[in-house]
Amino acid sequence: MRPLNSVVCIKPVPDERFWDKIRLDPKTGTLRRKGIPIELCSVEKSALEEALRIREARGGKVTVISMGPPGTEEILEWGIVLGADEGVLLSDREFAGADTLATAYALAEGIKKLGGADLIFLGNESLDGSTGQVGPQVAEFLDMQHVTHVSKLDLIDDDTLRAKFHIEFGYIDVEVKMPVVLAVEKDINEPRVPSIWGAVWIQERKIDCWTAEDVGADKSRLGLPGSPTQVSDVKTIELKRKGEMLSGEPSDIAKQLFQKLRADKVLPEA
Ligand SMILES: Cc1cc2nc3c(=O)[nH]c(=O)nc-3n(C[C@H](O)[C@H](O)[C@H](O)COP(=O)(O)OP(=O)(O)OC[C@H]3O[C@@H](n4cnc5c(N)ncnc54)[C@H](O)[C@@H]3O)c2cc1C
Repeated sequence: MRPLNSVVCIKPVPDERFWDKIRLDPKTGTLRRKGIPIELCSVEKSALEEALRIREARGGKVTVISMGPPGTEEILEWGIVLGADEGVLLSDREFAGADTLATAYALAEGIKKLGGADLIFLGNESLDGSTGQVGPQVAEFLDMQHVTHVSKLDLIDDDTLRAKFHIEFGYIDVEVKMPVVLAVEKDINEPRVPSIWGAVWIQERKIDCWTAEDVGADKSRLGLPGSPTQVSDVKTIELKRKGEMLSGEPSDIAKQLFQKLRADKVLPEA
């Protein structure tokens, strides 16, 4: 059995506990994320877990890769604490403003510089953008086959694996040859919690930071210039409704409710 190398694409997403603090900049229409902590997206923890289990069964190496602004190292550090062997951050002003296509192109160029992999793991959909486009696009750029919505994986032999993928009202089992891109669903496994060894690994293992030039990318295909998607308008939904608690005996509450509904002209005058 030969060892298998995996690359896992992980993306920084705003910490779910702070989502109500994210605001839209009315002038630029972009998200104001300053001061919002980032976290490793839960579906990508499952993607990493799958790669770690394969390394434990077969040997090989697990690399985590992310494209993001400075500070994204934190996500890669989490990947290493959970067990990845190394991390790569693609960070450069040239990558800024990337839509899914330009993101996938940059990731594919980074993966090429790593020398490719037998298995490339992604989440099926990220927690925030949720387009589900990046996995198939990475596969196209790398000229590799891909399977999305993967909910179970079994290695058959040195070159083949069986993937169970989710469709509406059921599942399909396919056998695919490696190398392959796999976009996994969150329920594929139960991700591990970090072990005490994570504190050692973070000291010993390295995170490289690569620019567009480092990966030899065509700059016209990166960032905003390389993004065919244009966001024409973004709106914040103003929530005008508010809740109110009525207290007292049930009969008093019913009377108060009638009065309020009449005052608001929801019910006709008595
Ligand atoms: C015109 C335009 C401009 C944009 N400008 C910006 C911007 O300036 N800054 C910004 O933060 N976002 C920007 N975005 C959003 C950005 O394009 C998305 O965050 C990104 O393409 C991923 O899309 P998604 O979350 O829908 O991916 P999905 O396809 O839902 O993600 C699937 C999986 O792909 C992998 N993945 C996705 N993105 C990354 C990544 N960056 N690194 C590693 N793995 C990844 C993960 O494994 C993830 O689970 C812009 C979008 C548009 C349309």
